[in-house]
Amino acid sequence: MAFELPNLPYAHDALEPHIDAKTMEIHHGKHHNAYTTNLNNAIDDTDLATSSIEEILGGISGHSPAIRNNGGGYYNHCFFWEVMGPDAGGAPSGDLADAINAAFGSLEDFQNQFAAAAATRFGSGWAWLVVTADGLVVTSTPNQDNPLMDDADVKGTPILGIDVWEHAYYLNYQNRRPDYVSAFWNVVNWDAVAEKYAAAV
Ligand code: MN
Repeated sequence: MAFELPNLPYAHDALEPHIDAKTMEIHHGKHHNAYTTNLNNAIDDTDLATSSIEEILGGISGHSPAIRNNGGGYYNHCFFWEVMGPDAGGAPSGDLADAINAAFGSLEDFQNQFAAAAATRFGSGWAWLVVTADGLVVTSTPNQDNPLMDDADVKGTPILGIDVWEHAYYLNYQNRRPDYVSAFWNVVNWDAVAEKYAAAV
């Protein structure tokens, strides 16, 4: 059983003007595709062929760097496409909104903390909103690591994440990572985040 690159759930230009079509085309078709191919190559001679990606990440400390980097890259990008969408943005509602308010005080306070995590992650990585045993937490990870990994600093189930590798924003935003993070709020699919929250708790 090989992992497969999922189709984008919307057109390349669906997130414009916040994320441009060329970035989406290269990010999905080249970067995510390469992580998928390289993950399959990395597990080819292992006993992981029937494991889910979540199972692989949960035991990542026992696997090779190639499985860590490409397994993380495979999962993180599948996740990223899901938590964005056209006609999105705005504010969460229901149980998710209540949980964000309880953990951070307000949506604005959460967004500030998340943006700070994204801005201060040195080099390449991700910022996350994570369901942990202690409630909702903002964290960030280097490279293609994520909170499902057994050796993550903050372990839990991610429900929102942003890719802050330069390949995610450089064509449109160049060195202005904070502008990209600000624009991200316009494409967050809060319905998808709420589904992930409900499944995690
Ligand atoms: Mn990426």
